[in-house]
Amino acid sequence: MTIGSDKQSGPQMMAGELLSRHTSLHIGGPADFFCVAYSADDIAEAIAFSSQRSLPFIIIGSGTNLLVSDAGMPGVVIKNATGAKGAIQIAPGPASGGYQNSLEGSDVSAFVSVGSGMSFSHLATELVDRGFAGLEWAVGIPGTVGGAIAGNAGAHGGEVSHCLRFVEVLEKDGGRKQITREDMLFSYRSSPWKSGREGERRPIVGAEFEFRRDSAEHLRETARTYLAGRRSIQPGGWSAGSVFRNPPGFAAGALIEQCGLKGFRIGGAEISPVHANFIVNTGKASASDVLALIELCQEKVSLSFGIELSLEIVVLGEQ
Ligand SMILES: Cc1cc2nc3c(=O)[nH]c(=O)nc-3n(C[C@H](O)[C@H](O)[C@H](O)COP(=O)(O)OP(=O)(O)OC[C@H]3O[C@@H](n4cnc5c(N)ncnc54)[C@H](O)[C@@H]3O)c2cc1C
Repeated sequence: MTIGSDKQSGPQMMAGELLSRHTSLHIGGPADFFCVAYSADDIAEAIAFSSQRSLPFIIIGSGTNLLVSDAGMPGVVIKNATGAKGAIQIAPGPASGGYQNSLEGSDVSAFVSVGSGMSFSHLATELVDRGFAGLEWAVGIPGTVGGAIAGNAGAHGGEVSHCLRFVEVLEKDGGRKQITREDMLFSYRSSPWKSGREGERRPIVGAEFEFRRDSAEHLRETARTYLAGRRSIQPGGWSAGSVFRNPPGFAAGALIEQCGLKGFRIGGAEISPVHANFIVNTGKASASDVLALIELCQEKVSLSFGIELSLEIVVLGEQ
């Protein structure tokens, strides 16, 4: 482990790195310590560094679902850069057939293992091209496989947990442990990793999925249609995706729009005029600008409809 020196052994720890450089909202103050991990060993070393100093640590992926405080983050922030386009290992499913995905009731044709730093969209695109169905909805969704599992990413009725078999996590002592889907409580855009302070903290370093066969041409067409649909309704620019989860039976964006908030700005943050469930950094927004808009949306929607909007994005650091 090196701290701010040119000598490289394990991940290089940087003091005071601005997290705005590592989030899609381009917002976030300094981390006490920050490092980029290029391997699971790097992640383990960074955790050892934090334990030796009794500091908290957190692992992030591409920062596409994060709102980080202007004050930054205490402890150690580990950025997972373990192979955005790394190896995809494919093993055939049971030769006799008959093994079914317990959630979807479909025959499983292949088991697919990847590292957690892989680009989620890259994985989805590769699977589509190889004729495996299950993640075609994920083509074009930014972020890493680890981030997608931690947030139970989804779109068009699909969720990453539906085709997940198990994850591999890193234990404090550097050992690895598998946790099966049945032992993780996934729900709509939520997972054990997203359950607040008491949530799962162990970094996900790898995952195995299960998929069924379909025609690559058919899957490509489905992926293209989904992606075009999302691009036509989502804003470009700096955002962290949907800010709020959709309450049962409602679309959060429609509720916010009906409160007249589309296009409303505080400081440099704006409720997107394109899609009201997106808050966009127009250039110089602070985390407090975004939080003020979040609170305004929650207040107005609660007053108008009696519905409490809960966050889909992850808010980090002291606000
Ligand atoms: C334009 C845009 C469109 C989007 N569209 C969608 C969409 O259609 N559907 C959807 O679900 N999301 C969407 N998102 C949100 C985002 O892309 C996903 O939530 C994504 O899966 C986050 O991955 P990440 O690597 O960026 O995670 P980060 O934002 O870096 O982290 C998110 C959370 O996951 C945890 N985490 C990350 N990696 C690990 C790991 N290896 N081990 C343990 N915990 C980890 C972090 O601690 C944090 O709590 C969109 C975002 C943007 C900007």
